[in-house]
Amino acid sequence: MRGRRALVTGAGQGIGFALARGLGAAGAEVLLNDVDPARLEQAVAALRGEGLVVHGRCFDVTNGADVERSVAEIERGIGPVDIVINNAGIHRRAPLESMPLELWQEVLDVNLTSAFLVTRAVVGGMIRRRAGKIITICSLNCEVSRPTIANYAAAKGGLKMLTRAMAVEWARHNIQVNGLGPGYMRTAMTGTLTIDADFDRFICARTPAGRWGEPRELIGTAVFLASRASDFVNGQILYVDGGLLAAL
Ligand code: NAP
Repeated sequence: MRGRRALVTGAGQGIGFALARGLGAAGAEVLLNDVDPARLEQAVAALRGEGLVVHGRCFDVTNGADVERSVAEIERGIGPVDIVINNAGIHRRAPLESMPLELWQEVLDVNLTSAFLVTRAVVGGMIRRRAGKIITICSLNCEVSRPTIANYAAAKGGLKMLTRAMAVEWARHNIQVNGLGPGYMRTAMTGTLTIDADFDRFICARTPAGRWGEPRELIGTAVFLASRASDFVNGQILYVDGGLLAAL
């Protein structure tokens, strides 16, 4: 990863933070983004403390103008973005029959539209340079759903097809676009679920590996998808889920 620059959205904590740390440890210069300035500052300081070359840039990935301005400033001030990881995401659960439109829209905006906005902002430079790696953080909910998460499942299903559409559209520019689909991982997003004894039992029984995943277990796949090792891999979703999707 040496000599490469990666932008990771929603990197203030959780999976984004783990992937920023992993790419940094593999030699990349990493730009961490988050919508929460204090959390972002803390994350950047922690990784600098580990000797990694990182920068922070606070912006809202759902705000097209903010995204365009931020990416332009990053590229002017720091340099071209070679790798982008569209990781920022949220969960807002509600029964579908009474789900307010705002909750539907918010989840689609952060989990799906953001990947379009951020990738559109960086891809022009990738096309000019004839090289780029784009990774979308997908989910088991690209394939399967559960009650009360229709907004999230619709967003992640859409993200899977956006990943494929981007791969098809930009492959001729030597750009690879792939998805990384985590299984159930321990993060703030799943915090209330990991301490729910019934849900914890359900996940451990449902996952062939018999446990939750840790964010750092996604690093190897992210480094693969960000490196030359995956130059002929395009439009794929790689699930890192302890075998869950393979089991009935
Ligand atoms: P997390 O711990 O909640 O971290 C997500 C980060 O994204 C938070 O710091 C959040 O900030 C930030 N973010 C939210 N909205 C944003 C916006 N508009 N602009 C910029 N940053 C924003 O979640 P996670 O579990 O690491 O999830 C990361 C990704 O993995 C998501 O796309 C999620 O859907 C996906 N995923 C997670 C799991 C899992 O089991 N954890 C499984 C499959 C897929 P705030 O907290 O301030 O909003």
